[in-house]
Amino acid sequence: MIVQTGRRTAPIKMENSGMTKYRSILLFGAPGAGKGTQGKILGTIPNFFHCACGDVFRGLTATSPIGREFIEYSSRGELVPDGTTIRLWQQFIENMTRSGRFHAETDVLVLDGIPRNVKQAEMLKDILDVRAIFYLSCPSMDKLVERLQRRALRENRLDDANLEIIRHRLNTYEAETKPVLNYYGSERVHPIDSTEAPAQVLEQILRHVVKI
Ligand code: ADP
Repeated sequence: MIVQTGRRTAPIKMENSGMTKYRSILLFGAPGAGKGTQGKILGTIPNFFHCACGDVFRGLTATSPIGREFIEYSSRGELVPDGTTIRLWQQFIENMTRSGRFHAETDVLVLDGIPRNVKQAEMLKDILDVRAIFYLSCPSMDKLVERLQRRALRENRLDDANLEIIRHRLNTYEAETKPVLNYYGSERVHPIDSTEAPAQVLEQILRHVVKI
């Protein structure tokens, strides 16, 4: 395996498969922590490609089999099964590559909402070269709930409208998603206080991103 470190290096080439791992940073945090806000901004920087897994699901036709599966799980505040999620995500990245919007050789993938449990992290371990994880932490559950309820109206998100579903999503995050931090280990995790203003959160992320 050729592993290069340092600034703007080429992605890792896997000797056996000949496959190039995607150089990636992960936006991590509870629903409402601000991953989407930061991801959209980062995605406007040349050579950064933002991919929000929830947006990939919401882009499906509601009547397609996967679209129906997504509605079934997300409306209960649960995660879509891992096999479906990873297949859909891979197809999306392949489509973006084919259409020339994502260039694996030069771009950094800004992942938001994936991997969302340890199983998904394992399924993606030969595909992603995870350089940094930005953990947008929010100590106040009330603040997250308030942000999600505001978003429900602004973005017409059904899963944000119901308090019970919001609580279930936050519990799902604690039980299934948070262990992903341990999976990657503390050296790569950068905790960031997500209660700060978006510009300040961005500044902290950029301080690390420029070294990738
Ligand atoms: P939020 O971060 O606010 O929960 P998302 O848009 O990331 O919102 O996700 C919305 C829903 O989409 C989730 O509750 C889940 O049902 C589904 N989803 C998104 N990403 C994944 C994933 N990686 N694995 C399984 N389900 C996912």
